[in-house]
Amino acid sequence: MPLHVWSSAGYTFPLPAGHRFPIAKYARLRERVIDEGIVPADCLHDPARVSREDLLLVHTVDYVDRFTNGALTGDEERRLGFPWSLALVERSYRAAGGTSEAARAALDHGIAMNLAGGTHHAFPTHGEGFCVFNDVAIAIRRLQRDHLIDRAAVIDLDVHQGNGTHAVFTGDDRVYTFSMHGGRNYPFHKVAGDLDIELDDRTGDDAYLALLADALPRVIDAARPDLVVYLAGADPHEHDRLGRLALTFDGLARRDSMVLEQCREVGIAVAVTIAGGYGDPIEDTVQVHVTTTAIAARYSRS
Ligand SMILES: [Zn+2]
Repeated sequence: MPLHVWSSAGYTFPLPAGHRFPIAKYARLRERVIDEGIVPADCLHDPARVSREDLLLVHTVDYVDRFTNGALTGDEERRLGFPWSLALVERSYRAAGGTSEAARAALDHGIAMNLAGGTHHAFPTHGEGFCVFNDVAIAIRRLQRDHLIDRAAVIDLDVHQGNGTHAVFTGDDRVYTFSMHGGRNYPFHKVAGDLDIELDDRTGDDAYLALLADALPRVIDAARPDLVVYLAGADPHEHDRLGRLALTFDGLARRDSMVLEQCREVGIAVAVTIAGGYGDPIEDTVQVHVTTTAIAARYSRS
């Protein structure tokens, strides 16, 4: 079974010259997974826009409508980190659609992937840290509403804590949130999840993988999920501009394999999202995501 992935040309939207967000990574990732034969062209799907009704499963009417209509305040825009544009609206609706569709497909195929998403700093009432909508929370809430899953777990291995996701699911014992992240990194005000592991600056492969190997079985046991959503951030990489950790390409590949192996052992479907990555050059970040996609494809086939 080949891996089904979601990606839209609209994931890459215009930003002002010199903006620090590496927007070109989405198009490069999409090109490379096709060119390198990791994903057959007919398994690359263009996501539909998520509906307003679906957004409201997680976000407030006030936030959704003001964002959509270009009525955010200057402070809100600065907190988000992107200047508002119609292309940003389109991109945000499609990226959330991609994670929802991948999560739905994962239930049929065991695994599926959005070549974007993992926008875990989005809260019900606002966006921050380059995250407009919480695609992961929306996908889980949609599947619960449609009675396709009851329980879910979020495994968030982006280097930044999944504060928005944690806020959405605080007090919800059907959704287990696990985040392993840089303790001294953004967000500086963390929101507790069900399991948080804080890492020291420059944590390397061995220490990271030992902590993960210990945590994963505990997460699965406690969560008893019907679906795992995995945020495979590229920003724990040693050369990431924002990461502060010291994982190698090989360490990140072993991380991905460990998560997917753990889920397969217990027969749990996994939806993969790419989350953050700020490599210099950006091709480093793309390389991490290409490798994650290749590993996911292996799990899809076997
Ligand atoms: Zn990040």
